[in-house]
Amino acid sequence: MTVKLYNTLTKKKEDFVPLNGNEVKIYSCGPTVYSYAHIGNFRAYVFVDNLRRILEYNGYKLKHVMNITDVGHLESDGDNGEDKMEKAAKKENKSPYEIAKFYTDKFLEDMKKLNIEMPEIIAKATEHISDMLELAKEIVKKGYGYETSTAIYFDVSKLDKYPVLSNRNVDEQIAGARVDVDPEKRNPYDFAIWIKAPENHIMKWDSPWGLSYPGWHLECSAMSKKYLGEVFDIHTGGVDHIPTHHENEIAQSKGAFGKIPAKIWMHVEFLQVNGGKMSKSLGNVYTIEQLEQKGIEALAYKLFCYTAHYRTKLNFTFEGALASQKALNRLRESYIKNASGKDEIPNEQIEEYKNKFLQAVNDDLNMPVAMGIVWEVARSEKKSKKLAELLLEFDNVLGLDLISSEKYINSQKEIEVPSEIQELLNERKKAREEKNWTLSDKIRDEIKLKGYIVKDTKEGMTVEKV
Ligand code: AMP
Ligand code: ZN
Repeated sequence: MTVKLYNTLTKKKEDFVPLNGNEVKIYSCGPTVYSYAHIGNFRAYVFVDNLRRILEYNGYKLKHVMNITDVGHLESDGDNGEDKMEKAAKKENKSPYEIAKFYTDKFLEDMKKLNIEMPEIIAKATEHISDMLELAKEIVKKGYGYETSTAIYFDVSKLDKYPVLSNRNVDEQIAGARVDVDPEKRNPYDFAIWIKAPENHIMKWDSPWGLSYPGWHLECSAMSKKYLGEVFDIHTGGVDHIPTHHENEIAQSKGAFGKIPAKIWMHVEFLQVNGGKMSKSLGNVYTIEQLEQKGIEALAYKLFCYTAHYRTKLNFTFEGALASQKALNRLRESYIKNASGKDEIPNEQIEEYKNKFLQAVNDDLNMPVAMGIVWEVARSEKKSKKLAELLLEFDNVLGLDLISSEKYINSQKEIEVPSEIQELLNERKKAREEKNWTLSDKIRDEIKLKGYIVKDTKEGMTVEKV
C-alpha cells in the first residue's frame, strides 16, 4: 500500500516514493537547548516518531538526522536579538556549553519517556562548525553572499524565486516589512549566514571574516548535506519554520548547490493553550515533568497527541490529558485481558482490522482515524490472544509500549505507605522470618484496622488500601 504524505512545497498529498530504493532519508529540525523542551515541542517529535514508525511499518529503512541547536539561534527566528544560548548562560551563570549539555540530556530523557525512536544520527551544531564554514564560503563563492560590517548576508534577490514554501508574495512582504535593523542589508529579506561576534560574545570561531559564529539556518543546510547529500527525501519541522527557517535553508542549498534540498517538506501544527501558541518566549509552557506531577504519564501525553491530525491545531487542557491517561490504562487492561483470552476470532476479521489501520496511517499519518480502529479492537466483547497480538502490531506505529502494560498497571497500584504502617510491616516481616505466625497474624489484623490490607506473594509482602 502506498504511503501518502502532505508536501508543504507542492501543497498536495503525494504518493511517497523514496529517491533511492528502499531507503528513506529524513532530516528533522531539532530543539534549541537553552531551556527545558515543553510539551508543544514534543508534539513535533511525537509527529516525527509517527512518521518514522509508519515508514518502518511499510518496510522502509531509515537514515534520519536530527540536529541539536546549541549556537546561533537568535531571539527572533531572523537576525534580531541575542543568541538564546548565551542569554540563558548569563541568566543561569553557566557557560553556554554547560547549558547545552544540561538541556540536551533532559530533552533526550523526555524523548525516552515518550518512547520516541531516536534518529540514526543526532548532530550538534557546535560540532559541525567547519562544515558550516565551508558552506558559507561556497555560498559567497557562488555570488549569493555579501559582507557587511556585522555579518555575511544571503542575497535573496539573486535567486530565481524567493520564497518557495510560503505562498506569500515577496513584494507584498517587502512592502509590509518593518524597517530592518541593519541598514547595510541589500534586501529586507536577506538573512545572516555568518555573524561577526561582538567583543563580549562567548561562542565564536576563526573565519575569513574574523571571530564569528554561524547563523541558525546554516546549521541545518550544512548537516543535512553532510549526512544525507544534496537532495534527500523528507524534511520536517513545526509550522513556525515555514516562513523563515525552512525558506532560508532552501535558499542556502539553492545558492550553494542549485537544488532544493528535500523532496517533501512536512510541518506539524501547534499545540495551543487557551487558543494561543504554547511557547517558551510567551511563558505559557508545560513540561513532561509537570504533567507527571499531576499523574499524567509521558505516554498518556503521546496518546493525547493522537486526538488530532498533525496538520490541525491541538488545544492542551489538563482534563483532556487526564482523559488520555485513563484511556491509556483502559488500552493496557484490554491488552492484558486479550493476552489470556480464549475466544475465537476469524482470521478475516484480523486482516480487515489490519487493512483499515494501515489505510489510516498511510493516509498522511491519520492517527485519529487509526485510533478509532485501535479502540474497536480494544473494546471488542470477545477476548483473544489474536487481538492482543494485533494490538502489539499496531503499537509498532503507536509507540505506547503496550507490551509492558502489566508493569505500568502494577506500578500504579503501588501506593505511598505511611511510616507507621511501614514499621508494622517491618515487624511482621521479622515475625515471619522467626516463624512466629501468631504475631504475624496479629500485626496483619492491626494493619487492617488502620486501613491497609497485607498480601503475601512470591515476591514478598504487598500492601493495598482497604
Ligand atoms: P525550538 O526548540 O524552539 O527550536 O523548537 C523545536 C521544535 O518544536 C520545532 O520544530 C518547533 O516548530 C516546534 N514547536 C515549538 N513550539 C511548538 C508548539 N507549541 N506546538 C508544536 N510544535 C512546536
Ligand atoms: Zn532546521
